[in-house]
Amino acid sequence: MALTFDAEHPDRPHRAAVSEGLLDVLAEGRVASTWFLQGRWVESTHEVARRVATDGHLVGNHSFYHARLPLLTDAGLVTDITDAERVIGEIVGADPRPWFRCPFGAGEDDPRVLGILASLGYRNIGADVVLEDWEPARTGPILAAHALRLVFEHGDGAVVLFHAWPPGTLDALPAIIDGLRAIGASFVRIDELERFAS
Ligand SMILES: [Zn+2]
Repeated sequence: MALTFDAEHPDRPHRAAVSEGLLDVLAEGRVASTWFLQGRWVESTHEVARRVATDGHLVGNHSFYHARLPLLTDAGLVTDITDAERVIGEIVGADPRPWFRCPFGAGEDDPRVLGILASLGYRNIGADVVLEDWEPARTGPILAAHALRLVFEHGDGAVVLFHAWPPGTLDALPAIIDGLRAIGASFVRIDELERFAS
């Protein structure tokens, strides 16, 4: 299965510490994952953003401003997507193509958005398991139990969506990794999942 992290909202408190903590947990567990980076987040935290790539995680594009993409004009979409690509290239040293995740999932069924993404060399990567880890009431133990149940129900190849800033996500991640390993899971990057192989 593929654990994925959306790194966004540079104004969130404790954001950098949570992101670094997640990277520590992934490194300790030798877990490969995929991170979709928002351009403004990358600009706000060069070191953590670079570490995502140097730790061996796959880097994708999560837009520059984290707007709802269907609200943007064609030209606005191109700017938002390519601005993120540029700062990821300059600061992280990675080319995020073809991996993209629409902010809020907005636009993932919109032919205009998907067409512009495709013209820029991207494909949108949705998620099979969404834990709503952005809800403050969803503490670590709740998230961990929910994640294990949903991933088990989905079965092989699940793409699991986390965010890189909620403290509950950091609390939950060690138990999620241990629990999934206990039922036989192995963790791969999106580019290693069979259905996304090109
Ligand atoms: Zn997002």
